[in-house]
Amino acid sequence: MKALIIDGYVDEPACLGVPPYLSPYPRYVAGALRERGLSESDIHYLTIDTLRKNSPAAGELIGKADFLVVIAGMTVPGKYLRASPITPGEIEAIFRAACGVKVIGGPIRLGFSKEGGRAAKGTEGGISLEGAVLARLDIEAFVYDILERQGETGWNTGTPSRLKIPGAVEHRFRTTTEIGRWGPKGAFLIRQHPDYPYCMCELETYRGCGRQVHCSFCTEPFYGTSDYRPVEDVITEVSALYSQGARFFRIGRQPDLFSYHGTDIGGPVPRPEPEIIERLYKGIRNSAPDLSVLHMDNANPITLANYPEESEQILKTIIKYHTPGDVTAFGMESADPKVISANFLKAGQEEVLEAIRLVNKFGSVRGVNGLPEILPGINFVHGLMGESKKTFQLNYDFLKHVLDSGLLLRRINIRQVMAFPGTPIYGKDEAAKKHKKLFLDYKEKVRKNIDLPMLRRIVPEGTILRDVMCEMHENGITFGRQLGSYPLLVGLPASLPLRKFTDVAVTGHGMRSITGIPYPLNINTASSSLIKELPGLGRKAADSVIAGIPYADREDFLRRVSVGEKLLKYIEI
Ligand code: SF4
Repeated sequence: MKALIIDGYVDEPACLGVPPYLSPYPRYVAGALRERGLSESDIHYLTIDTLRKNSPAAGELIGKADFLVVIAGMTVPGKYLRASPITPGEIEAIFRAACGVKVIGGPIRLGFSKEGGRAAKGTEGGISLEGAVLARLDIEAFVYDILERQGETGWNTGTPSRLKIPGAVEHRFRTTTEIGRWGPKGAFLIRQHPDYPYCMCELETYRGCGRQVHCSFCTEPFYGTSDYRPVEDVITEVSALYSQGARFFRIGRQPDLFSYHGTDIGGPVPRPEPEIIERLYKGIRNSAPDLSVLHMDNANPITLANYPEESEQILKTIIKYHTPGDVTAFGMESADPKVISANFLKAGQEEVLEAIRLVNKFGSVRGVNGLPEILPGINFVHGLMGESKKTFQLNYDFLKHVLDSGLLLRRINIRQVMAFPGTPIYGKDEAAKKHKKLFLDYKEKVRKNIDLPMLRRIVPEGTILRDVMCEMHENGITFGRQLGSYPLLVGLPASLPLRKFTDVAVTGHGMRSITGIPYPLNINTASSSLIKELPGLGRKAADSVIAGIPYADREDFLRRVSVGEKLLKYIEI
């Protein structure tokens, strides 16, 4: 029995699985398959990009698979540096080529759409599944139930005919106890990831939303109320991943990390439990002592605003155990009171500002990798009910106020709503179409007037960023990022070896990216395009530095280059 998992990638408000990220979905599916008796060598994993690159070999794997699982679904699609999510056409082609049992699941169960501003369609109506079955709830539970043993002999002698017919299997959610077993059992899958060992393992602490009312656009309530995993289960999974070589982790699969195991005391959100977060972080560090990255993702600003003391303790814990460059992403969605009330959003301007201040107070200190320890990110959603022209002005004014207050925001995410069937916004998202032009102009204005000065403040010229991974070449530029949560895109004007880390000195700023040079720059061997990028070096001076190569030593450099003193800190000879 051979199983093949094809990762078409997922991007949800509280879960990322686009390379270099590996989401929990394929790992849990692999764990469920293991528990049903398949050996590690019988479980194959391909990302959709690997499949595109190796189509003949991958096609053979698809044809030979007794059991094919496709994972897909972008509920908040973004732009990705070197990965491209699976398309409906590709799903159809894969299923046409498959001969065994075939299933598809993940967030695609909620529907699909190409971009924000367009409502999602139901998957079964919009994609020809060619005999595959869509897991209406959790794909990992669906796979597990299909493979229920029907005899005593086990899979070594089994054939696909011994599978339950997928259409006859009940759709259900998996339990936290099940993923407590499947997570560690599926950890081996990371070794098949094309980015291994440099892939980020997205970790789940819980899913579902603990609020009594839900934001009109959000798909998280489809998972029910908060379903917390035991702390020990998360730690055990980290330990299993670590033993397979994982070194990069993000605690990203939850809507609000600060509320993990929070206590419901009747308020709008649960009261945080700082000692639980301490147990989680300490446990992760103990079981993965040499990890390279430990970051987080979402937090609800209302939790920080309502429980500042508990949140302060949590922030201190995070800073103690994490790695710098961390981001706590706040879903503000809108600064317009009318939109907030029409869509049952969680926090108003004052509360979000409080949360931003709190994170800045403790997190803005620069860490060893060159970035501040932890900074807030902020998400805006446009096209919501009650949106007017004034909404754009209010959002802009809010961001301007944050900038003018000297506060730092690591990332401003602005998107248009993608309305999913079953959410209150579905069928009421006409503002997205109506305000498309307004939206694009406003986005541009934010990028220019807010993002750019903010980025200059966060990573001023001359900042040294450690361990930037070179990922792709384009037009003579190497693009790289530090592995982490919402990594900054760095462009280096040279062709550097890919899949290698380099330290970078920041030399310039774009609206959402920076330019840099390898640090330290070997002045005698560097290309002229890199030398010209040295901070504070005019074109004429750069030409004269280049003409003077080679330099015998630092003294020689200082003697022959008039601006040598200020360049010395960036170069080696
Ligand atoms: S608070 Fe709103 S955005 Fe956050 S998970 Fe709940 S419904 Fe979704």
